Amino acid sequence: MHTQVAIIGAGPAGLALSHLLARQGIESVVLEHRDRAYVEGRVRAGVLEQGTVDLLHELGVGERMAREGLVHRGFHLQFAGERHRVDMHELTGGGAITVYGQQEVVKDLIAARLRQNGPIRFEVSDVALHGLDGERPAVRFRQGGEAHELTCDYIAGCDGFHGVSRSSIPAGALRTYQKIYPFAWLGILAHAAPASDELIYAYHERGFALQSMRSPTVSRLYVQCPLDDRIEDWSDDRIWSELHARLDLADGPPINDGPIFERGITAFRSFVVEPMQFGRLFLAGDAAHTVPPTGAKGMNLAIADVRVLGAALAARYHEGRDDLLQAYSATCLRRVWRAEHFSWSMTSMLHRFPDDDGFQHQLQLAHLRYTVSSRAAAASLAENYIGLAP
Ligand SMILES: Cc1cc2nc3c(=O)[nH]c(=O)nc-3n(C[C@H](O)[C@H](O)[C@H](O)COP(=O)(O)OP(=O)(O)OC[C@H]3O[C@@H](n4cnc5c(N)ncnc54)[C@H](O)[C@@H]3O)c2cc1C
Repeated sequence: MHTQVAIIGAGPAGLALSHLLARQGIESVVLEHRDRAYVEGRVRAGVLEQGTVDLLHELGVGERMAREGLVHRGFHLQFAGERHRVDMHELTGGGAITVYGQQEVVKDLIAARLRQNGPIRFEVSDVALHGLDGERPAVRFRQGGEAHELTCDYIAGCDGFHGVSRSSIPAGALRTYQKIYPFAWLGILAHAAPASDELIYAYHERGFALQSMRSPTVSRLYVQCPLDDRIEDWSDDRIWSELHARLDLADGPPINDGPIFERGITAFRSFVVEPMQFGRLFLAGDAAHTVPPTGAKGMNLAIADVRVLGAALAARYHEGRDDLLQAYSATCLRRVWRAEHFSWSMTSMLHRFPDDDGFQHQLQLAHLRYTVSSRAAAASLAENYIGLAP
């Protein structure tokens, strides 16, 4: 088997890349180790920057998102018993974000790719990358009990943080930057109307909480929890009682409870490898970098990477230029580090730190008060939140 670009991983990065390449007449094969139902059911991010929305429309997969996605022009910061609206639209001259679940984006990308007969091979195993620094790399894998080899011109490593691509690069060729945070998020989906039309980011003495949503009848809610908590430690009653304690205001309606139908605990990590390339392997999305979810940047960065990679591969195949491919890593890393800083800053502003003796708490309150009282500070937060230009 031969293709032009072998794509490892059918997450947002790999799938969007397969569409970008197809639109340029470039062949690709996507290799995914999970089955289709698992990939389509994996609940993760839900905030799309305008650049991500625009790309999905360009790829012709934006129709359901336009119908079902919720456009938000602001969000709330809550602390010291008060809620303050950050008017992103007004502060950024017309900016907004769209709330639409990552798994819905993935479903739309898969359905459209399969309609075009684009090859996505689910349930492959033992994926191994070979010849990355030569002219003709290859991917070996197993499917249905048989061994296969896919030769290609380039490999796109879009297989997430735990994938095989990054670890196929020889030790010493990459520099790694990492920060682990001393807490996690317990996230739920519940059949409950969101208490607010817009997201509420709450800093509370008991810890961070977030009211988000997936539809007018489904709430997505998070509470900060200790890093070593297990999901069994959290009964429904305990979850709702923490959410009420951290999100309800004395003078407003409480958040709405409802049956919980999805729950999970997510640890946080800021992580970047440089460069995002080794020979003919290009890393994209979580394979190259992760951010804590507070800034809602993970999926948006993954899509931004493959927009750059798709354009660079098109220049290579259609104009014989490889300058854009050579610049791929540096081009992406500028945006990545901006998002790393923003995500770290949001996380630091909004979470309780277990080793804090009170000093950090006062700094956080000062940061929050400044953010909601200074137009310049609020505008900076808003422009980072809606996403900087591609
Ligand atoms: C639990 C969780 C919650 C999150 N919540 C948020 C959030 O609220 N907001 C936000 O912005 N971001 C969030 N993120 C981050 C966001 O979901 C990711 O940044 C995004 O999924 C990155 O997309 P990707 O395509 O790079 O990687 P992924 O979505 O991880 O896709 C990688 C794909 O590669 C496949 N794969 C892995 N290894 C192999 C292999 N060896 N061979 C073949 N295939 C392989 C995987 O099965 C997967 O389908 C969350 C992440 C997690 C894990």
